[in-house]
Amino acid sequence: MLDRLRAITGAGNVLTGEDAARYGRDWTGAYSWSPLAVVRPGSTAEVAAVMATAHEARVPVVPVAGNTGLVGGTKAPGALMLSLERMTRIRALKPEARIVVAEAGVVLARLHDAAAEQDLLFPLWFGARGSAMLGGALSTNAGGSNVLRYGSTRGLCLGLEVVLPDGRVLNLMQELHKDNSGYALKDLFIGAEGTLGIITAATMKLVPAPRAHATATLAAPSLAAALSVLNRLQEVTGGLVEAYEFMPGGYMDRLATIRPDLGQPFTPRHEVTILVELGATAPRDTEPRPDGSIPLVDLLEDTLASLMEDGHVLDAVVARTEAQRATMWARREAAAELALTHGPVVDTDVCVPLDRVQDFLTRMPVRLAALDPNATDLTVAHLGDGNLHYTVFPSQDGAELMDAIRAAIEDVVAELNGSFSAEHGIGLSKLSSMRRRKDPLALEMMRAIKAAFDPLNLMNPGKILPDATEETRA
Ligand SMILES: Cc1cc2nc3c(=O)[nH]c(=O)nc-3n(C[C@H](O)[C@H](O)[C@H](O)COP(=O)(O)OP(=O)(O)OC[C@H]3O[C@@H](n4cnc5c(N)ncnc54)[C@H](O)[C@@H]3O)c2cc1C
Repeated sequence: MLDRLRAITGAGNVLTGEDAARYGRDWTGAYSWSPLAVVRPGSTAEVAAVMATAHEARVPVVPVAGNTGLVGGTKAPGALMLSLERMTRIRALKPEARIVVAEAGVVLARLHDAAAEQDLLFPLWFGARGSAMLGGALSTNAGGSNVLRYGSTRGLCLGLEVVLPDGRVLNLMQELHKDNSGYALKDLFIGAEGTLGIITAATMKLVPAPRAHATATLAAPSLAAALSVLNRLQEVTGGLVEAYEFMPGGYMDRLATIRPDLGQPFTPRHEVTILVELGATAPRDTEPRPDGSIPLVDLLEDTLASLMEDGHVLDAVVARTEAQRATMWARREAAAELALTHGPVVDTDVCVPLDRVQDFLTRMPVRLAALDPNATDLTVAHLGDGNLHYTVFPSQDGAELMDAIRAAIEDVVAELNGSFSAEHGIGLSKLSSMRRRKDPLALEMMRAIKAAFDPLNLMNPGKILPDATEETRA
């Protein structure tokens, strides 16, 4: 099979041994493995030929894009890893239609730059944008900090090109905003984490690039007050809030220890710290006045001042320079470093209704203390979406304890009508949650879909869907 792959992609693009070993680890370091080989096709035709070859040889295939996924989705012991890193063409960027057609290996930051050259914005924005690729973002239905304003990856995608497990190319590459011609096949591949096929290209929406941003860090007396602030800002700005990120006191403490270079916005620190960013395109909001001030920034400042008067805001700092804005974002984007690179962790990515976030944070310490009194936790949240990245650092390493903690988090989430998985996907790390919490009928339907696309179970096997036999035993 490897010789056939070499004939398809060129010998230099089939890596084995030491050359393949660097692909055998995920971003978090929690998963490592030895792949059979890594193949790097350079076109859709090559992906199709590679898939047909692997299919014939009955070899499992695991796609990898930027490898920044946080749930073990690229683990591929003994499997053929198919890297999208050579699929880097932006096939078209159409400013009038506000779309970009790009291959799966295009890094998100490059899409940002290409859109910016046309005064447009590719609005999918998160900390890993310098490495994560379009194919990976689609396959995880990534979210990030702008979902509040622009929606998640699924909402931004108009068309897809997919290579099926047997090598056939499914062309769903349209540029339409409306299409009711049967089942929404495109949406099945978005968030499928490579279990149904290989996404090779996509048509994505662009939006007008904001001509001005107004960014602030604020402290609120409570999460309820912080929600009122969000609602007031949406009202007075006509829905210009692009990001509304919550960093609790415990997060700021850990930031002070691990990244003292980033400083602290307030001394003493508060329990509810929010990073808010507005983005505007209209000249009335963005054109500098003769004194150099920007109307949008003044609007934010004035609104926060009046919110301080009525007690919804305790303190606030508005960024006056790009450097100040960058520091505010760096504090928020240090989250993965704070949460995931230090010792054993149970990292979760849950979603609850916006007005139940405080309930989650009140209930969790009680559950946690009952399981592991010496455990500590860390929260950071896309508050505007009710999406919390809640991480527990257990006092001891042990699969049983970690799973009990995960189950307790799921309990609280279920009590609040939330979801145990908001934006990172399932991969391997949330298989037990799927087994415990997903409606059995929903799992049955998902397995039927998987079997329809991938009857031989060769596409990223073992991810998303827990083993049905284990479920029966449980
Ligand atoms: C610092 C940091 C911050 C992050 N912040 C966020 C955040 O705010 N929001 C968020 O949603 N995520 C976030 N993530 C998680 C991660 O960046 C996203 O899940 C991202 O979308 C993964 O893209 P990738 O290219 O790295 O995919 P990979 O990690 O390579 O792959 C992810 C999954 O998709 C599959 N896959 C990859 N490419 C394809 C393809 N072409 N076709 C089919 N399947 C494929 C893989 O098999 C795997 O299961 C963050 C990660 C880090 C490290």
